[in-house]
Amino acid sequence: MKTAIITSDTSLNHNTGVGHPEKPDRVSAVIENLKKNKKLIWKKPVKFNKNILNITHTSEYINNVEKSFPNEGLVFLDGDTIVSPGSKDATLDAVGSIISAIDGVENKEFKNAFCAVRPPGHHAEKEKAMGFCIYNNVAVGANYLINNYKYKKIAIIDFDVHHGNGTQDIFFNNDKVLYISTHQYPFYPGSGDNSQKGLHNNILNIPLQAGTGSREYLIAYEYVLKKLKNFKPEYILFSAGFDAHKDDPLAQLQLTSKDFYEITKRTIKCAQKYCGGKVVSILEGGYDLNALAESADEHVNALLEFNWIIK
Ligand SMILES: [Zn+2]
Repeated sequence: MKTAIITSDTSLNHNTGVGHPEKPDRVSAVIENLKKNKKLIWKKPVKFNKNILNITHTSEYINNVEKSFPNEGLVFLDGDTIVSPGSKDATLDAVGSIISAIDGVENKEFKNAFCAVRPPGHHAEKEKAMGFCIYNNVAVGANYLINNYKYKKIAIIDFDVHHGNGTQDIFFNNDKVLYISTHQYPFYPGSGDNSQKGLHNNILNIPLQAGTGSREYLIAYEYVLKKLKNFKPEYILFSAGFDAHKDDPLAQLQLTSKDFYEITKRTIKCAQKYCGGKVVSILEGGYDLNALAESADEHVNALLEFNWIIK
């Protein structure tokens, strides 16, 4: 039983325009680095039934997104969320990657998986594209686990430096999903203070000041693990953004690449105890190409070493 990487060349055709930080090279950088690791299984996203999207987003929103893809040039869905002709397949494959990852874990093809795709998803709300995100990939994954596989307790851990306002919006009133986010605060997108707890106390926001470094972050991460242990998830999904890295140009947290190994390892220990190690992770942010490639590699290394001894 190994770790799978789900990725597709369509990620490279989602053109966001010259100078945009959420660029195709991000996925290339991650993939090139992971290719050096010979222990990984490589898979492509599946085509999926579009009804799966309707559980997470409204039909009106999905129709509007589908109509927005241009035959040429670029279209702005919001101030910084841009689509091009190649975005249609890229957005569907980003969703399809998490569906493939979940199916593969359920069919015991592999132990766990990381989806190296774009566009990211965690800022996309039920009916709103935002912050480089179009469909909320991780939220579609959680709803797929609930509807298709009848799970009742899904935990989403979002360590992207930005608060996942979209994921919080989608699950604010859903007691089957625990959403935990660590993020720089106050910061874009503005949400994520610790008074936002969800209608079933199913949201834990851990806001962190600009400048927070490894030591303080790892102390804060103990609250993530504590909440996880109380919830006893049947499945863990990561919204894996690597923009809390100290070299990231868009934010001011000060994590090192190794910290992503550490938090993944600690979470997987918990996953082994409560859900047989069922973990699926999907790429969100991360805008310094070297930091992104190195951090994603550390994250995947921890996924590969899933046989952690539970103490
Ligand atoms: Zn981010």
